[in-house]
Amino acid sequence: MKINGNCLCGNIQFHFVPKSMNVHACHCGMCRRHAGCASMTIDSADGLPVVTKGKDLLTTFQSSEWGERSFCSKCGTHMFVTVPNFCYYGVSAGVIDEEHTSFLELESEVFIDKKPPFYTFFGERRRMTEAEFLAMIFEGTEEGAGTTDDGEACKDESIKKITEDL
Ligand SMILES: [Zn+2]
Ligand SMILES: [Zn+2]
Repeated sequence: MKINGNCLCGNIQFHFVPKSMNVHACHCGMCRRHAGCASMTIDSADGLPVVTKGKDLLTTFQSSEWGERSFCSKCGTHMFVTVPNFCYYGVSAGVIDEEHTSFLELESEVFIDKKPPFYTFFGERRRMTEAEFLAMIFEGTEEGAGTTDDGEACKDESIKKITEDL
């Protein structure tokens, strides 16, 4: 299934194939600063979303050693979070078209120990501290956080997987 989305001013339009309808919330300080508060993202199954309009307005900012965040340079909408070395491509849950939002489910919260006390998300779900989350993503990656070759390999794998799903 393909999901469409756009930024607040409408100048950037894109589509992507989600890995699932699961939404992940991150309470880390970087996400809260960039997204205005906790970030809510959906994983893309097929690499970076395909930007069909306003590519020139999409600005990508390297926010940490590994992470990049993309936003609309006209309206400031926080759109994508990527960790190229892990082949991770996340799309802000807030920018996808309304028709898909009723299918989404908040599946996990990470950096729960960094959440400020003034808000809490209702309901039961997987909640991980920073240490638990980092242990999970580094598990089985003794070869390091990835080289260009690893990156290319996992891009190929996700493309292969999509082709198999079709
Ligand atoms: Zn915009
Ligand atoms: Zn975060």
